[in-house]
Amino acid sequence: MKPALIIHGGAWDIPDEAIPTCKNGCQRALAAGWRVLSSGGSALDAIEAAIMVLEDDPVFDAGFGSHLTLDGRVECDAIVMDGATLRAGAASTLQRVKNPIRAARSILEHCPHMMLVAQGAERFARDHGVPLCAPEDLISDAERDAWFKCREDTHAAEHHRGHEQGTVGAVAIDRSGSLFAGTSTGGTCCKLPGRVGDSPLIGCGCYADSEAGGVSCTGYGEALMKIVMAKTAVDLLRQKQICVDSPAGASCSPSTAQVAAREAVHLLARRTHATGGLILLDREGNPGFAFNTPRMAYGYVALDGNFVTAV
Ligand code: ASP
Repeated sequence: MKPALIIHGGAWDIPDEAIPTCKNGCQRALAAGWRVLSSGGSALDAIEAAIMVLEDDPVFDAGFGSHLTLDGRVECDAIVMDGATLRAGAASTLQRVKNPIRAARSILEHCPHMMLVAQGAERFARDHGVPLCAPEDLISDAERDAWFKCREDTHAAEHHRGHEQGTVGAVAIDRSGSLFAGTSTGGTCCKLPGRVGDSPLIGCGCYADSEAGGVSCTGYGEALMKIVMAKTAVDLLRQKQICVDSPAGASCSPSTAQVAAREAVHLLARRTHATGGLILLDREGNPGFAFNTPRMAYGYVALDGNFVTAV
């Protein structure tokens, strides 16, 4: 099977001056993931490598540089899902993990449960080799300044350098046909402590099923949860593939992926009047993406092996 990779760095009102940094982050994330896939590595290693690059880049809202809660802390959420087994590993409200996707992976691989939160998740991650950091190590100067302004005034996107930064995610298929999806986020800015959004919830911020495809979402979590957006998108892929399967054998049309992505975002807009976006791969590795925000940072590896990135 030909490997495939798609990543995103969030769907928001990304201002012109942040475009080069967002593009650069997407490019580096694709390079990290593709290095793994093109040398025969696993889809799980590839999405972890890509997402770690995005988590480490403070232009995105995940890991270091995440938005702060109302009481001035970073609380991160992350999930990874295996399309073959439908098993997920998810961690929420992490305050001491530099790369939350690693905590999610440790839960996927070693935990009898599929989701852990707060200190329980941190302790589990640490016991499975994920290093912990001080909570302050996740706070960037820019987000601390933004938080002070929001506290003095009210929360406003302008305080966050003109935009709400984005959640990150990746979907990959490797040579053996394994499909994994992952999402990592600092959540929304000035959220209440303990708030959990769509991102770490199976079916909401992420879903993967090798029979249909894999999805990672971004946007206003309280709305994405209402339409269980990632699972909805995978179900749209499944329906459309059935249509394509019957007359033409077992192949997916590349446009199916794109149509499923668009329909999921239309549903979000129609039923919740909110904004967001998503990336996906269908079961054959065709990429799809859609958003109804002014911009989304994303990238994928095209059929000819070239990296396509856009904001
Ligand atoms: N979906 C995320 C959340 O609500 C935010 C984002 O996508 O940027 O936590």
